[in-house]
Amino acid sequence: MTTPTIVTFPDGTLRGDAVVTRVADDPEGAVVVVDATPFHPVDHTWPDQPGDVGVLTAGGGSVRVTEALMAAVSDEGEFAVGSVIPVKRGAEGWTWLVGHRLDGAAPAWLTQGAGVSLAVDEGHRAGLSRGHTACHLASLALDLAVADLWRKDPGEDALGNPDFEGRANQSSRIHEDGAVDEYRLGKSLRRAGFDTETFAATLSDREQRINAQLAAWVASGAASLIEVEGPTIVDRRRWRCDLPEGEAVILCGGTHVASLDEFASISVSLDLSDPQLLVMTTTATRA
Ligand SMILES: [Zn+2]
Repeated sequence: MTTPTIVTFPDGTLRGDAVVTRVADDPEGAVVVVDATPFHPVDHTWPDQPGDVGVLTAGGGSVRVTEALMAAVSDEGEFAVGSVIPVKRGAEGWTWLVGHRLDGAAPAWLTQGAGVSLAVDEGHRAGLSRGHTACHLASLALDLAVADLWRKDPGEDALGNPDFEGRANQSSRIHEDGAVDEYRLGKSLRRAGFDTETFAATLSDREQRINAQLAAWVASGAASLIEVEGPTIVDRRRWRCDLPEGEAVILCGGTHVASLDEFASISVSLDLSDPQLLVMTTTATRA
């Protein structure tokens, strides 16, 4: 009987001790599952934030984790890792786990039942947390900067502004100290009431508005945290940020900074070289 992996990253934990519950051979590198981990895994259905990297250590030695990723085992005993998991995150009939991908085969000391210490690469995690928080703030600032371009109500974002992000975002890729977001500006967005022509004609003005808003939010030094509904990887988590305009709450599985004081700046650039595809590149600088 497999039990779900307990995750400790939401409160910022970077280290922990655990018992190995499974070591799965894999041509891309062995995957180690433990009963509890501080590693944040990349999500298999919405892979916006890369998984943590770090080290597993025991008496026998230590081994590098190249990326933490989702894993799951079905009630029938089928074990699957990452993008080949055949069901959506949290689907019933599966037990949800965090896998730790190694560089190659597992060393002899790393076996089921072994006790290990886990350590996440702190600099990499901090960079991804800044990148993810900056990504959310940039999206909220984008919603605000195009709020006057809606002729119909598209629904509200986390600050009560028209939800451009929710209507148009098609992918989000977070990296250390930044992110790249793509938005589809096709027919369906126009039909939903968005004025893409005026948007294209005023692109640099919109970019300036976003950057002014981001500078004001960074200056506020607002608190930022992750709220959890339970201890496993599939329990719902939310990012909360206490902005001057109100508290923003967004359903989010990633990691985040503890305060906007951790930024010296956040800025975006908007690219519309393909008129159907807005690319927003977000760059954060640490304080
Ligand atoms: Zn998020």
